[in-house]
Order: sequence, then C-alpha cells, then structure tokens
Amino acid sequence: MHSTEVDVLIIGSGPAGYTAAIYASRAGLKTLLYKGDQPGGQLTITSDVENYPGYPNGIMGPEMMIDFENQANRFGSVIKNGMIKSVNFSTKKLSAISDDGDNISAKTVIISTGASAKWLNIESEQRLNGKGVSACAVCDGFFFKNQDVAVVGGGDTAAEEALYLSKLTNKVYLIVRRDEMRASIIMQNRIKENDKIEILWNSEISEVLGKDYVEGINVVNNVSNEIKIIKLNGVFIAIGHTPNTDIFKKYLKMDENGYIITKPDSTETNIDGVFATGDAQDKIYRQAVTAAGSGCMGALDAERFLSNI
Ligand code: NAP
Repeated sequence: MHSTEVDVLIIGSGPAGYTAAIYASRAGLKTLLYKGDQPGGQLTITSDVENYPGYPNGIMGPEMMIDFENQANRFGSVIKNGMIKSVNFSTKKLSAISDDGDNISAKTVIISTGASAKWLNIESEQRLNGKGVSACAVCDGFFFKNQDVAVVGGGDTAAEEALYLSKLTNKVYLIVRRDEMRASIIMQNRIKENDKIEILWNSEISEVLGKDYVEGINVVNNVSNEIKIIKLNGVFIAIGHTPNTDIFKKYLKMDENGYIITKPDSTETNIDGVFATGDAQDKIYRQAVTAAGSGCMGALDAERFLSNI
C-alpha cells in the first residue's frame, strides 16, 4: 500500500472540485484531487454550456471541464483518476483510501462529490441522453425553443423545470406517475394555472422514441393501461437527485436526503478540517457557476484552517 501526505485532499472533479484545486494549489498547498467515477462531473453529460460567464459563444461541457483541469494542473495540483473508497474522520489525522489502495493522510479534506440525477433507467432514455433527453432544464431548455417537451416527475424539481420550460417552449407535458403531485401547493397551483402545461396523471414513459434524436414518447396510463404516443423533441427527467455522499455518512451531519450540512456562510462541516462544496451540499442552486464559487470558498476555508493549526 502506497502512503501519501497532503495539505488538501479534494474528492470529486466537477466545477467545485477543480476550482478548489486551483485555489488551494495556487496558495502553495500540497493538493491532491481524486476525480471519481464520473470525471468532470455532471457537466460532462450536457452538451453546450451557455450560461457560464466568460464563454460568450458557449462551450461544450466536457471541453470546459478539461480547461478546469488544465488550470488546476498549472498550479501543481496532483490529479488522479480513481475513486476514494472510504474515509476516516474519527481522529484529527484525516485519512482516506483510494480504489487503487493508496492510503492518503490529509490535513484538510474538501468534499466535492456532487450529486447524480436519478434516471428512469429504460434503454431508450439512456441511448438518447444528450440527444433530447436531459435532467437539467436550465442547461438544455434553450435548445427546445417553441418545440414540445415532456417533464417527468411530480415533485418541486419537476414543477420548477416545467414552469421554466413553459417560458421557452410551445408546450410542456408533465408526466406524473400518481394521481397527485408531491410538489408544494404553491408550485402545483402555478402549474395548474399555466396554459402551456398539460398534466398527464397516472402516467409513465415506457419508451423514448427516436433513432438519433428524441422524436416522441410512449406514455402508459398505469390505471387504464392505455398507451399514447406523443410527438415531441425533448424529455426532461426530474425525479430527484441523489448527492454522492454515502462514504461520509458515518461522520458528517446530513439532511434527510443525504446533503451535507455546512455552517452558514461557510463550507465547514461538523468535523474540523472537512469542508463540503458544490452539489454534495447544495440542493437549491445546483449550477456550475455556484458550484465553482463554493469550491473557491472550500479552498479559502481550508487555507484559513491550516494557517491556524
Ligand atoms: P422529490 O420531492 O423526491 O420528488 C420526486 C418526484 O419524482 C415524485 O413526484 C416521485 O413520484 C417522482 N418519481 C420518482 N421516481 C420516479 C420514477 N422512477 N418514475 C416516475 N416518477 C418518479 O424530488 P425533488 O422534486 O427533486 O425534490 C427534492 C427536495 O428538494 C424536496 O424536498 C423538494 O421540496 C426540494 N426542492 C425544493 C425546491 C424549491 O423550494 N424551490 C426546488 C426543487 C427541490 P412519487 O411522488 O410517486 O414518489
């Protein structure tokens, strides 16, 4: 087993992790970042990113994450492919073990493991992901201007996505699997008052249609078993996100959905020297730019912590 000692261990390689790496290594801290099982994070499953400031003509998500990585490299961050399999935060000496068996001892740890969108897990949805199937209306809604789209889900996220898309698109089908929504009443009322949104109750998508791009959906009514084909161009899956925080459960305070709780105006967790950034602790904004901002906060908090020990 190989052993390493660092000032800052960063777990995760989305905008939060890379920004933390840029700041920490630029401050002269010995910084090690593990990329995780989706190097580059959620941005690598979107196509054009048009709302990240500084790219007036937009940029492809994967390309942007390569830029982030190169910038972190420039200041000496060590960036490794692979996963952190477990952590030990039970003593002041924080440590972690990687999937290739490295034992890392870290003075501080910045968690930026992000969250993963939940999917329906049907073959056609996976095949057309990024080709009309998306899990982010703010990222991809623009591409469906004046077209017809569907949103799947009955919670606040689905309601928000449907309302957002109703401003851009021609029509939004909201596909709810029960005869009621889980979303807050105020959001439900907004949905019901919106002429562009049609709710299909007791409904589930059995197949996303299209060879290279989404062309429609098969919707099954799970009470009557009636199947309907709806022609449309975009399908937004909004059935929730899962923060990737399982390996920290034993040590860190989290809310009921697994988001890490940080102190107000800070990335500090309940364990000294452990900081949480990006979507692993943010269930509200979930944007690349807010994640990057929080990664910066994590590195500044770690730097301040190190100067006080
Ligand atoms: P959620 O509340 O868990 O709702 C998920 C929705 O997706 C439910 O309607 C659920 O149906 C449906 N669903 C789950 N799996 C499905 C599947 N396989 N097929 C079809 N439908 C499926 O998740 P969320 O909407 O992401 O919200 C998460 C938390 O964040 C909530 O506490 C929410 O209030 C909060 N949030 C707040 C705001 C805001 O305040 N602005 C915005 C977004 C989220 P069932 O109801 O049948 O289970």
